[in-house]
Amino acid sequence: MSQNNNQQKKSKFAQSEEEIVKFWEENHCFEKSVQQRPAAKQYVFYDGPPFATGLPHYGHILSSTIKDVVPRYFTMKGYRVERRWGWDCHGLPIENIAEKELKISGKKQIEEIGVAKFNEFCRSKVLEFAGEWGKMVKRMGRWVDFENSYKTMDNSYIESVWWGLKQVYEKGLLYEGRKVLLYCSRCETPISNFEVAMDNSYKDVTEPAVFVKFKVRGQENLYFIAWTTTPWTLPGNVALAVGAKIDYVQVRQNNEEYILAKDRLEVLTGDYEVIKEMRGMDLVNQEYEPLYEVQGLKELGKKSHYVAAADFVSTEDGSGIVHTAVIYGEDDYNLGLQLDLPMLPTVDEVGKFKDNVPQFANQYFKKVNPQVITDLTKRGLLYHTDNYTHSYPHCYRCETPLFYNAIPAWFINVQKIKERLKELNENINWVPQHIKHGRFLKGLESAPDWNISRNRYWATPLPIWKCQCGQLEVIGSKQELKEKAVNSSQVTDDLDMHKHSIDPIKINCSKCGQEASRIPEVVDCWVESASMPFAAQHYPFANKEWFNKNFPAQFVAEYVAQTRAWFYVMHVMGTILFDKPPFENVVMTGTIMAEDGSKMSKSKKNYPDPWKLIDNYGVDALRYYLMSTPVMSGESVNFSEKAVDEISKKLLITLANVNSFYQMFKDKKDESYQPQFTNIMDKWILTELQMTLLAVTDGMDAYEVIKATRPLLNFVQELSTWYVRRIRGRVKGSDERDKQEVLHTLDLVLRTFVKMAAPIIPFITERIWQDLRHADDPISVHLCDWPTADELSTTGVGTDHDLSKNILKNIQTIREIIEKALALRAKTGIKVRQPLPSLTITGQELGAEYQEILREELNVKEIKFGQEFVLDTEISEELKLEGLLRELIRQTNSLRKKAQLTINDKIDIKLSTNSTLVKQMFQKYETDYKTGVLAKSVTLTNDAQEHSLKLDGEEASISF
Ligand SMILES: [Zn+2]
Ligand SMILES: [Zn+2]
Repeated sequence: MSQNNNQQKKSKFAQSEEEIVKFWEENHCFEKSVQQRPAAKQYVFYDGPPFATGLPHYGHILSSTIKDVVPRYFTMKGYRVERRWGWDCHGLPIENIAEKELKISGKKQIEEIGVAKFNEFCRSKVLEFAGEWGKMVKRMGRWVDFENSYKTMDNSYIESVWWGLKQVYEKGLLYEGRKVLLYCSRCETPISNFEVAMDNSYKDVTEPAVFVKFKVRGQENLYFIAWTTTPWTLPGNVALAVGAKIDYVQVRQNNEEYILAKDRLEVLTGDYEVIKEMRGMDLVNQEYEPLYEVQGLKELGKKSHYVAAADFVSTEDGSGIVHTAVIYGEDDYNLGLQLDLPMLPTVDEVGKFKDNVPQFANQYFKKVNPQVITDLTKRGLLYHTDNYTHSYPHCYRCETPLFYNAIPAWFINVQKIKERLKELNENINWVPQHIKHGRFLKGLESAPDWNISRNRYWATPLPIWKCQCGQLEVIGSKQELKEKAVNSSQVTDDLDMHKHSIDPIKINCSKCGQEASRIPEVVDCWVESASMPFAAQHYPFANKEWFNKNFPAQFVAEYVAQTRAWFYVMHVMGTILFDKPPFENVVMTGTIMAEDGSKMSKSKKNYPDPWKLIDNYGVDALRYYLMSTPVMSGESVNFSEKAVDEISKKLLITLANVNSFYQMFKDKKDESYQPQFTNIMDKWILTELQMTLLAVTDGMDAYEVIKATRPLLNFVQELSTWYVRRIRGRVKGSDERDKQEVLHTLDLVLRTFVKMAAPIIPFITERIWQDLRHADDPISVHLCDWPTADELSTTGVGTDHDLSKNILKNIQTIREIIEKALALRAKTGIKVRQPLPSLTITGQELGAEYQEILREELNVKEIKFGQEFVLDTEISEELKLEGLLRELIRQTNSLRKKAQLTINDKIDIKLSTNSTLVKQMFQKYETDYKTGVLAKSVTLTNDAQEHSLKLDGEEASISF
């Protein structure tokens, strides 16, 4: 996002919005909106803390909007919705930035400069972009306590995370184990499955897939054929796996014989002859010759290089015989444990081959792929090689290709609590609903144990001290650390709780009394995000009562990738620590793509700069657009500037125009007048208003924001194109009672509408509220209570359900008639200004008030009821004169407008014509003409005047 350039032209909307931001600040509207609601009536909302390491983009704008809309709504409903910003400060994103800026790479160099220096540098970088975020958040109209934000690097936050982990440990759910995990060789740390589930992790790569020949021991020219897409793992091969019940064949081709699955014969190239068939179980325990000798393997004294049966073998791809390198695959590892296969890593922590495979020693694992192929080809052990395209995981921070690696790590035992996770999921309201038993439940079902340790530096240190005697001490607070420390004076009140300050502190082993040291690992920063509900409150060290009363939260919202990330980890922690789901309602949004459906990309510049867009259309248009698109029901949406433009015109400009219209006549409103709401159009718009209010309220209550948004635009269109258009005559007219009725109606409509639209479009509604509000009204629309249908029932509308339905139905009917009749007029080429004698309509007879609307809209003298739909187009002399009058009034008024006259300018007109018809018309309608064009006098003259007019073929000229 580029800097907001002040020179850039801003639209009126944008300028007005910026004034409103100031107005809110100066009047402390946000603070008041929170404080005016009772502390006992809390509505809790968790804000997923963003990293401050990048600039905000449309995804953030989307989540910022929904995180503003829902709290504003519940505030108006009478709840106290406290909102505090948070920052995610730890982990690889910031460490990577620090490495780059310090011009170092890898753990060795970090440790050379010192962890203290490295961590302090990370700390200094954390909030680098906070200012830019603050600017965007404020401009978006998001109400949140930004200044007083919590940070995951705060001591108080870290202490709560420690407390949480100790609870997990005491419940027997924390353990150290060796597991196969995706591993980044550049960051030298395992990456958890939900980090991999985030964007940008999987990329399509094309790699060699090889069919390798494993020579059966003691047989000449007989080979097992196995398949792998990771040739570099072949030196680590210790077994081959087959499916016990799968059919295999032995085939002869040229001078050699091969064994492979019967269903996979297609992978052979050229002719072959099947000479034998067998089941997988017949192959079990057959031995073969290793492709490579790994030094030190034999010394482990374990049986290796034989065929074993395994459930995971299929005949979907490959040869039906699976190469097994126990360290470098999940299935492989489990099989290795089951069979007690030797486990000897061939690759070190930075992804380079170890000395135990001298041929490839010190080479990066990916670079070994082609060398293995060349080598095996030379030795006649490669059957065939293919290019194979598959999606391969990469480090989400540094984009290094990951590989599976069995490394020791700390885990939260998810298997033990899985049933409870699933049960508690039943209590969560998911929007869209299908996520509950779809994506989220599936994620729970397949969730492995959660690896929570990282072999890194800038994060919460894992609070585990290990003694040589094997005793573990898990520390749950600073106080506990002080009590157990060998030298308690090290644990000062302002002790920074990061690795470099904590590691020097030794504690006394409670079992043997020796000194125990902290293990080197830090915590996966998802543990921090998962702890946000209590850690942001420094629970249980503070806010204990508040937290106990207000957990779980009522609401969270994030985009789809967080389903298996933040939503998931919070659910795990909530379940373990409190046996409750952490949130009651969750909105999962989709992803915003570029207009052409591709990913939004900074380098491709395939999307409009958000700041420019906001300067053009204002924030309201963007907010409404985002809240009304299917991205709110979890779908991907291609961003459309055109749609934002359309919303600006159809909703915002239209609404502003309706308000301007009302403001012109507002002074004429008599506050003491008691409206009766008897006019059919008034009743109709109030009915529409009530229906809209119900739809918006229902949508918001169900967190279905699209349903709460779309009716707003429809209503504004109805209000403008039907109601306001039809009442123009009434507000200008001489019937004082009717004028009061219409002004009171329009006032009520606008007041109610701006309240119900305020959460979605907070700026324009505030602007209009300032025009509408009385001295005793709240100073901001956002300090108002949410309107209720009961309030509107004082108008008499809605109390009688049938009546309301009837009005809506009848208005709908006459609009259809009008549409038809106008089409007929257009066909015959007769302008609407020309009055016609009658329209005959079919169906039930309509009430007088509806007939009146029809006569006016269609400019016909009479509505008849009959068997057929007929527009009588017979124009009598009298009607012709009336048509001329209307035409003359219209043209005169358009000249008035050009001359920029207002309703207060009364004019003297000179009219000249040779047309007999026009003269006749003038004789008959002089008064009507004068009233219609706000003229003091009209003089007929023979001299041609300044403006010549064509009136349905007749000529005239006027001046004034
Ligand atoms: Zn990495
Ligand atoms: Zn001990």
